[in-house]
Amino acid sequence: MIAKESQVLEGGNFLVKEYFRKMIGEEGMKIMENVPAGEITDEEIARLSDTKLSSVRKVLYTLYENRIAEYRTERDDNSGWITYLWRFNRDNVKKIMEEEAEVNLNELNRQLEEERKGVFYQCNCQRILFEEAAAKNFCCDECGSNFEYIDNGSLIKELEEQVEVIAKWMKGIKKG
Ligand SMILES: [Zn+2]
Repeated sequence: MIAKESQVLEGGNFLVKEYFRKMIGEEGMKIMENVPAGEITDEEIARLSDTKLSSVRKVLYTLYENRIAEYRTERDDNSGWITYLWRFNRDNVKKIMEEEAEVNLNELNRQLEEERKGVFYQCNCQRILFEEAAAKNFCCDECGSNFEYIDNGSLIKELEEQVEVIAKWMKGIKKG
C-alpha cells in the first residue's frame, strides 16, 4: 500500500488540481491519481491505474512537455533493455501557473493604463484615440461614419476586476 500523502496529486490545492485537469483531462487525472512520489515506470503506472499503456504514455508526454514530468533511462546490461524511470515535479505546476498569471497580469495592467490615459472615439469599424479622430476631422475614411466619443469607464472597471481576480488567484496558488 502507498501512503496517501506520498501521491503526486494528493494535498495539492484546488487551483493546482484544476490546472492539472485542464492539461491532462479526466482520464489523465484518473491515471495520475494513483501515482506515488518517487520514480516509476510507465508500465507500473498503467498497472496501478488499470489503464492502457498508450493512454499512460500520452499523459506522460503531455506532462513532460509542460515540464512537470521528467525521466531518466536505465539500461539492462544483459538484455540491453532500456527502462524509462519517470518522476514528477508538482512544484513546477505552481511555477508555470504563476508565470502564466504574471504574463496575463502584465498585459491587463498595460491595457488598463492605456484605457485610463486615453480618450477614445469609435466609428462603425474601429476604435481610436481622440488625437487620431481629431486628425481625421472625426470622420472615418474607411467606413464613412463619424467618430463618436465613447465612455470607457465600464471597460476600465471590467479590467480592474480581472486584475483583482488574477491577483487573488496568484495568492491562492502560493498558499497550496
Ligand atoms: Zn470606420
